[in-house]
Amino acid sequence: MTATHCPYCALQCGITLQGPAGATTLGGRDFETNGGALCRKGFSAAKLLAHPDRITSPMLRQADGSFAAIDWDTALDLVAGKARGIREESGADAVAMFGSGSLTNEKAYQMGKFARLALGTSRIDYNGRFCMSSAAAGTNKAFGLDRGLPFPLADLDKAGMILMLGSNVADTMPPFVRHLQTVRERGGLVVVDPRRSATAKLSAEGAGWHLQPTPATDLQLLLGLAHVVIAESLMDTEYLAERTTGLAELRSSVSAWWPERTAKITGVPADQIRRTARALAAAAREAKNGGHPVYILTGRGIEQHSNGTDTVTAAINLALLLGLPGTLAGGYGTITGQGNGQGGREHGQKCDQLPGYRKIADPEHRAHVAKAWGVDPEMIPGPGIPAVQLLNSLGAEGGPRMLMVHGANPVVSAPDANQIFAALRRLDFLVVADFFLSETAAEAHLVLPVLQWAEEEGTMTNLEGRILRRRAAIDAPGEAKSELWIFSQLAQRLQAPGNFSPNAVEVFEELKLASAGGIADYSGVSWQDVDQGAAIYWPCPEGNAISTEPGARNGTPRLFLDRFAHPDGKAKIIAVYAPNTVPAKQISLVTGRLLEHYQSGAQTRRVDELAAAAPEAALEIHPSTALAHGISDGQMVQVSNQRGTTIARAKLTADMRLDTVFLPFHYPRDGTANLLTSPSVDPFSSMPEFKHAHVSLNPIEGE
Ligand code: SF4
Repeated sequence: MTATHCPYCALQCGITLQGPAGATTLGGRDFETNGGALCRKGFSAAKLLAHPDRITSPMLRQADGSFAAIDWDTALDLVAGKARGIREESGADAVAMFGSGSLTNEKAYQMGKFARLALGTSRIDYNGRFCMSSAAAGTNKAFGLDRGLPFPLADLDKAGMILMLGSNVADTMPPFVRHLQTVRERGGLVVVDPRRSATAKLSAEGAGWHLQPTPATDLQLLLGLAHVVIAESLMDTEYLAERTTGLAELRSSVSAWWPERTAKITGVPADQIRRTARALAAAAREAKNGGHPVYILTGRGIEQHSNGTDTVTAAINLALLLGLPGTLAGGYGTITGQGNGQGGREHGQKCDQLPGYRKIADPEHRAHVAKAWGVDPEMIPGPGIPAVQLLNSLGAEGGPRMLMVHGANPVVSAPDANQIFAALRRLDFLVVADFFLSETAAEAHLVLPVLQWAEEEGTMTNLEGRILRRRAAIDAPGEAKSELWIFSQLAQRLQAPGNFSPNAVEVFEELKLASAGGIADYSGVSWQDVDQGAAIYWPCPEGNAISTEPGARNGTPRLFLDRFAHPDGKAKIIAVYAPNTVPAKQISLVTGRLLEHYQSGAQTRRVDELAAAAPEAALEIHPSTALAHGISDGQMVQVSNQRGTTIARAKLTADMRLDTVFLPFHYPRDGTANLLTSPSVDPFSSMPEFKHAHVSLNPIEGE
């Protein structure tokens, strides 16, 4: 029996695997995040290991458009030859890489190093840009450090009140709900979501409440809540004086957001705004007098906006006004989505970062990483460009001519999908490493077969910043190989400087050196301790004593208890502003996830029971809105805007606002919600605007 973790989301539930390849069975394992429970996705994950769709050899596109199997030497020679040729003709930035928050820490680290040293390119970014980038930017600005939950998830078990904004954990990571049980019973779960989601229903069932704002008005709602806290003198003045800077400007920035005005723009009644702010302040006061802690948690719903960083900043400001972050009375956290969404943003896949969360433009940071890599700092290229801009520049004048994609499916998951599709088709050479022929792999010139989670060794970092072991339980089918092996082979062919080990333990040891002294410091984490199940949370500098005793927490389970990570030790309150305009009376599309599917659905759509339960994109629409548009339940509907048209089956539900429809984004081209989403991005993080687009609705007659 092998103890490992679910391949999907950042909860990284503990699982066990048994049996040989082709007959592997999976069970829940008692681990702190899931207590043995699994959701439908995790429970059925073993069905993908021996799936008939697995790619088992490198496949090269033929003149007639079909793929033909080729051997690895031919494939690797081809990749290296194309990269070398394009680099010579058009410069190093003509070759780009696109990574993923699903890769292990070692693969994410090695990919960043491979891009900079073997390809010499600055053009690398990853799909985490679509996931956590605005939350990371907001927490970095406020606290000087970004770790999704700066406290163990189990701290929520004792909560007296939780304000959860834009997160539907009851569908996206159901075992999370066990950590909300007590707060629900206490009537303290308050959910903010334009949909009455499964999580919003949990709040109402437990005597909490649900605020249902107009899409894209989360920032205004948060300013309104802060207004009440300040106007009614409900803030923690002692904490604010001792632990924060910037209060004065915040006061003026929220002064005009009185509840009646906020209500006009957000659609949330003024009495609900007052009730929520007062309840939070009362619960925070009680928490500091020995009561139950209070948390403000955010998710993609408020983060995936072109003002995502400002919205996260406003949520943090509210938490700071209440005196919560960096105390045992509660805190602020953002709920990471992808399996290694946390580790994936620490080790150098981002266009502006080097391992250990170091800044690629900082000479000291470059010098440290160059030493770990055994190269001169000048060999490391400077900052690149973020995901949406990178993808849209492919094949354009001066843009990359070759792209290597690892663990991502941007044709489905990136915004304004028609443009992404066109950009990929402009490339001279597209290489996709995957275990299935995803919609992006289907566009490739060359597909490289790689290992799945149960076939590889490595580490992952979950939503709490805890480092976990991923273990190989079975052999991979056919000729599938690890990305570490692929990078090692290609580095040799490209005569790259530095060492590119194919061995996960060796890469982890190097990652520790590269991260030492950085924000995400892994230098005190040993592979053996992680292997034995020690609970280790970064930062964990060298010399930290590690205990593997059950219940022991190592490294830094709770951040900021003494000081925040800015040089003055204080958290920054940063005033943010929002337009005072009543939203247009148009139908707004909100995109999101379903219980049955993960990310672009390339994996979960291949599991029979998940596909049967959620076979196609369903357009959730209020019955009155449907009636006004002549749409009946189950009818096919064209959902359109200036960027494209997608087709979905109407699902009438009173859970929607009258002005809002919902589409899941897990489905391929003709049904993908991302044909409609906007490519405009947040100025601080380059997070795209996934959660709001105006659309028109037209029923398809006879369907
Ligand atoms: Fe747990 Fe997430 Fe896997 Fe579901 S998908 S079993 S919630 S890790």
